[in-house]
Amino acid sequence: MTSQPPLSTLVTSLPRSGIRAIAAFAGNRPGLVHLEYGEPSMLTPEPIRKAAAQAVLEERMVYTPTAGPMRLRELISEKLKRVNGYDAAPEQVFVTPGGVGALFLALAAVLNPGDAVLLPDPGWPNAAGQARILQAEPVFYPLDPKNGFLPDPDGWRIPPHCKAVVINSPANPTGAVFPRDLVERIARVAERHGLWVISDEVYDQIYFDRAPTSIFQVQPERAMAVYSFSKTYAMTGWRLGYLVAPAQVVEPLQRVAEAIFSSSSMVAQRAAEAALTSAGEYVPEMVAAYRRRRDLAVSLVREWGLYRYTPEGAFYLMVDVSAAGPAEEVARRLVTEKGVVAVPGTAFGRQAQHELRISLAASEEDIRRGLEAIRDLVQG
Ligand code: PLP
Repeated sequence: MTSQPPLSTLVTSLPRSGIRAIAAFAGNRPGLVHLEYGEPSMLTPEPIRKAAAQAVLEERMVYTPTAGPMRLRELISEKLKRVNGYDAAPEQVFVTPGGVGALFLALAAVLNPGDAVLLPDPGWPNAAGQARILQAEPVFYPLDPKNGFLPDPDGWRIPPHCKAVVINSPANPTGAVFPRDLVERIARVAERHGLWVISDEVYDQIYFDRAPTSIFQVQPERAMAVYSFSKTYAMTGWRLGYLVAPAQVVEPLQRVAEAIFSSSSMVAQRAAEAALTSAGEYVPEMVAAYRRRRDLAVSLVREWGLYRYTPEGAFYLMVDVSAAGPAEEVARRLVTEKGVVAVPGTAFGRQAQHELRISLAASEEDIRRGLEAIRDLVQG
């Protein structure tokens, strides 16, 4: 019998996503309340679906230019001015398969094997996975729950081989929005240490109080910013995002993108054009729904004495379940005893050992049922 040749250490050693792990543990039993995925509950707005359908019926679906059709890059450049408050030329925009694709390109642009990259803990785990694929070393900086899950850049331990820091505001998994002076402090620390700042701004339009500050408003020379159509327009399955970077970075990145995905999906890019031209009025409605869900969740945890902080953006809340035990154990009991799926904080690093992340992208009814189940475990 011939044995199979070995697989790479990369595929055998990359940790599994803790979000997928709890979802797999829950399986597809009927009647579960799903609060694990950061996925909008709404349909993609109708003008976007219609434009995509029309493109499929009328156009040849072909490869597009690697960084995206110029018309879409121009529309994105206008959006950056209108929504994010800064000027970036269309040549600075790189359209990618999801924000996750943009983040990978940003990291690939600056990390050599053996370099270090600073990442938030708790943070969206894909960034660490991407760093490992690039054979770089993730070094984590803490987000302090006692300080609303904000970082303290002046306290960061930055190794000499560090090339970049990734920040994420509005943040997953916490919903924190960094105030402007914090973004400025981060930019100053990055400048002192010669770091790029890779700013994950995929939740840029989902905020409830103060508008987030883009890194490009503060320090455009050493900045890259990651955006997505997934969250703003309920388009997770369309897989479209974009990177904004200095034009000298975008240009050579085309060779990297050419090697791994050639171009983003043409139908998704046609849909994205419609999102930017004809679906603007849907966004405030969706954000208002997330705000109602955030308010509901915060008022429930307050009522039960479980309040820790108020998320100001994205659509997540970290709930302290320390009274019931370690987060992973509580997450499993929540599934088996209560039929509710939430993600243990350990899926996002080492700092959140006692929290569960619930997604506020779920319906109000599911949020209420899920939080009541958590309360019963914590206080029962
Ligand atoms: N960045 C953060 C912080 C996220 O939470 C997500 C998705 O959950 C992404 C990036 C990537 O989103 P997408 O690849 O769907 O655009």
